[in-house]
Amino acid sequence: MTRKILVLPGDGIGPEITAQASRILAACQAHGLDVEVEEGLVGGSAYDEHGEPLPAVTLDKAKAADAILLGAVGGPKWDKLEDLTKRPEKGLLGLRKNLGLFGNLRPAITYPQLASASSLKSELVAGLDIMIVRELTGGIYFGQPRGIEVRNGERVGFNTYIYSESEIERIGRVAFEMAQKRGKRLCSVDKANVLEVTILWREVMERLAPEYPDVELSHMYVDNAAMQLVRAPKQFDVMVTGNMFGDILSDAAAMLTGSIGMLPSASLNESGQGMYEPCHGSAPDIAGQNVANPLATILSVAMLLRYSLGEAALAERIEAAVGKVLDDGLRTADIASEGTRTVSTSEMGDAVLRAFDAI
Ligand code: NAD
Repeated sequence: MTRKILVLPGDGIGPEITAQASRILAACQAHGLDVEVEEGLVGGSAYDEHGEPLPAVTLDKAKAADAILLGAVGGPKWDKLEDLTKRPEKGLLGLRKNLGLFGNLRPAITYPQLASASSLKSELVAGLDIMIVRELTGGIYFGQPRGIEVRNGERVGFNTYIYSESEIERIGRVAFEMAQKRGKRLCSVDKANVLEVTILWREVMERLAPEYPDVELSHMYVDNAAMQLVRAPKQFDVMVTGNMFGDILSDAAAMLTGSIGMLPSASLNESGQGMYEPCHGSAPDIAGQNVANPLATILSVAMLLRYSLGEAALAERIEAAVGKVLDDGLRTADIASEGTRTVSTSEMGDAVLRAFDAI
């Protein structure tokens, strides 16, 4: 059955980097991948055309797709829009909400060739390969009640940190299954010494564990997890945590790798439909210059193939092609170092394609 992929280039460098990723998708089609690829507008570019960051036509295409590849949204052109519901990032949030994308996968991988780019000593990060599984649609970012109001003559701000058992179980299963496919170790991060909601979190993780006897489950308080991530990050295989802790820990882990231009991500819903995007933003400072690093977006294609289309062999082939290009010393400006050759966005795309075809 032909599967559908929707490509949403977005704003800023989005169109440049997704153009390179689309070339890789086309190469996969040439190697037998049966997919139909469509494009659509989201973010500022959609606002310019349709007056909405997530037009109905885009949402309809997204719902019908097996997987979505997104570049990035946002930029100074739209920062002053007074109607906040029209801001580019509302396009992204709307996609997450409408598609129920509750499971965010954030790999932090340090390619040995780039280990010197990390702020940590090379030996601490060379070969690092962590997968952070973050709950994306619940927790304190969405909990009710919330607000700012006057109490006893002064203003108070308040939010609600809430998770139901079913929400915890759903993300827990994603994480256990992920650990089964990787190093079979899962660290659940909570603050169960202080917060009741994470006492329940820990209980549910413990309850699930016997169903995954091949996975070794451990627990860590979030403050210790932050410390361990910068002390000895290679101890981790898969980490699972709630929305807020995951937001912070996944950015910290991303920085261990030293290069935001290299990091893909995935957000999945219950039916395996997913949205795949680089972790970085639309980089307006370098947009239109053909200098942006397209590798995070190309590696997002690999995640898309693996997690939404079940095409692990093609995914590995893309990842190997990226490794080969790095071995050959090719770098976009953001990851360039002494002794390497700086190439443009499109030259990097050319090189990955050549390596992909040669494998
Ligand atoms: P950013 O990630 O866009 O850029 C931060 C820095 O990293 C910039 O110097 C940029 O040039 C560089 N950079 C980012 N990606 C790069 C790449 N692929 N190759 C080379 N260099 C790269 O973050 P920002 O500057 O805080 O935000 C810029 C815009 O992006 C804002 O409008 C913001 O709202 C938006 N944004 C969007 C997303 C998303 O679409 N998921 C995420 C974060 C920020």
